[in-house]
Amino acid sequence: MKIAILPGDGIGPEIVGEAVKVLASLRRAGLPIETETAPIGGAGYDAAKHPLPDATLELAQAADAVVLGAVGGPKYDTLPRALRPEQGILRIRKALGLFANLRPALLYPELAASSALKPELVAGLDLMIIRELTGDIYFGEPRGRRRNAAGEDEGYDTMRYAVSEIRRIARVGFETAKKRGRKLTSVDKANVLDTSILWREVVSAMAQDYPEVALSHMYVDNAAMQLVRNPKQFDVIVTGNLFGDILSDEASMLAGSIGMLPSASLDANQKGLYEPIHGSAPDIAGQDKANPLATILSLAMMFRYTFARADVAGRIEAAVRAVLAQGLRTADIALPGERAVGTRAMGDAVVAALG
Ligand code: NAD
Repeated sequence: MKIAILPGDGIGPEIVGEAVKVLASLRRAGLPIETETAPIGGAGYDAAKHPLPDATLELAQAADAVVLGAVGGPKYDTLPRALRPEQGILRIRKALGLFANLRPALLYPELAASSALKPELVAGLDLMIIRELTGDIYFGEPRGRRRNAAGEDEGYDTMRYAVSEIRRIARVGFETAKKRGRKLTSVDKANVLDTSILWREVVSAMAQDYPEVALSHMYVDNAAMQLVRNPKQFDVIVTGNLFGDILSDEASMLAGSIGMLPSASLDANQKGLYEPIHGSAPDIAGQDKANPLATILSLAMMFRYTFARADVAGRIEAAVRAVLAQGLRTADIALPGERAVGTRAMGDAVVAALG
């Protein structure tokens, strides 16, 4: 199990440090884990004048999985666009062919009061959003600015999906649903967009290969509404890059703090990049305040998807649940009046709960 560790900037090194403690504990328990660390983002720029140094990319390419903290910070805000920290993430996703972004929104019962919705709407919430990550209007050509026939400047982008791109992300959707609650909702805008009409045709045709999965289709505007009206109706949602970007951020608020939510970005062979969904939180960096659980839960996804070790994933998730049940809270998930623990104490508690 070769794992590249890319801490990044801000709270990145602190939260990844706790995840590395968890990996070390699993190694002591007998898992064949090898880790190597390299800089990315602002740290990459500091080390090698580039947000994704060649040596970092080579390490990531040679590894089975990548664990990333977060990138960015005020120190780097004035760099030219090509050298800015977030370019490091965009480039590594592209270079590794990570086309499937999996974001679970799971609400731990202990944190029901932290959700933006009423506890009865979100108690037991456990949904997975699968967002296509390398296509759609974000990458479609042509794009740009031009002078139109009326002599006015206009901006334009191109939404496009090829059948093969729809098939490979839909397959991830069906396969994931098969292993979960067997319900797949494909989200599109087929009442208006040609790209979505094709999307719906392709996904519908694949349903016959998955008779055990109940497929339904939903327009994106309705999906945005249903996510706050009755989010527990969903099991797995599969959608394109643009719609997934927006819906997955919306869903993250259902599950309470941003500090709790992991993600996986996978290639065609289950190699993956695992990271918390939050950023580098410069406002709390270096203060032992950041919640490391999103990063630790990203490790659980790594064991489940890249290493096919659902047993190890389950152990990590159970350890996180145990520390929450013990009442441990970092500041972001503590209710007013509750005592908060620091990043390191939270990581230590998870290691202790792993046994
Ligand atoms: P952010 O996610 O870093 O922070 C938003 C808020 O959430 C802050 O108040 C922060 O303190 C809090 N927060 C975030 N993670 C937390 C954690 N683990 N524990 C406790 N609190 C946490 O978003 P932002 O402030 O908009 O961006 C800060 C920097 O991060 C920017 O440079 C931005 O470009 C970058 N960013 C990076 C990524 C990434 O690396 N994938 C994603 C988003 C933003």
